[in-house]
Amino acid sequence: MEMIQVRDLHKNFGDQKVLKGISFTLNKGEVISLIGPSGSGKSTLLRCLMALEYGDQGDILIEGETLCKNGRYIPENKMRPVLAKMGMVFQQFNLFPHMTVRENLLCAARLQKKDTVHELDEKCKQLLKKVELSDKAGEMPARLSGGQKQRVAIARALMLNPDMMLFDEPTSALDPELTGEVLQVIRDLSAEKMTMLLVTHEIGLAKDASDKVIFMDQGVILDEGTPEEIIVNPRTDRVKTFLQKVYL
Ligand code: ADP
Ligand code: MG
Repeated sequence: MEMIQVRDLHKNFGDQKVLKGISFTLNKGEVISLIGPSGSGKSTLLRCLMALEYGDQGDILIEGETLCKNGRYIPENKMRPVLAKMGMVFQQFNLFPHMTVRENLLCAARLQKKDTVHELDEKCKQLLKKVELSDKAGEMPARLSGGQKQRVAIARALMLNPDMMLFDEPTSALDPELTGEVLQVIRDLSAEKMTMLLVTHEIGLAKDASDKVIFMDQGVILDEGTPEEIIVNPRTDRVKTFLQKVYL
């Protein structure tokens, strides 16, 4: 099943062409890593998928449902159920600072009104266990490390039962010694066959946790293929040069 289909997506900021005809498909159970230099349009692409930015041209379908056709997004009231199929985790965690970890997980889930209070409570416990933060349920975000905050953000996104997860450089804001604990959660999700679109500079993660790697540069997809084809034995000089830089 096709979870995300993007066809010829364009996005301009003023005169600057940031996405210049992006097309790809993310299938159910698949993990795609999106790599490429800073400024190539990776975040903009994710933001267009979440309707945090609006693409100017092209189509976006989520689980076969149109989100955007010929650059026109569907009306906002129809958008909500489509967007709810995706959970998103940002570089900067975006936790609610005035709420405990537990409240962070519960607040959006409560608004969904899908589960009973008891069910939400159980789910919250399970997810905090999954990200190994059971003992931090009552803690305020300010008292957590960056790695712990990001794990809370992942658990919070999972509370809404998304069919797929989008990550935008989830470890870029972390001290190096804290990236491992966040990468482990993403690796666990990948092992569980969670469908994911993962923007990352962690080439090791892209190599072992994804089915497919897309290399973006200056608003276009320069190459895409298996981790073997893109990372282990890159076929193009542009990708080779990029990988040498990030490995250094
Ligand atoms: P990446 O995530 O690959 O580093 P981005 O999608 O963040 O790239 O940015 C691509 C280009 O779009 C950059 O040149 C950036 O400055 C520009 N850009 C991103 N967001 C905006 C915005 N809201 N307004 C104007 N320019 C933007
Ligand atoms: Mg970015």
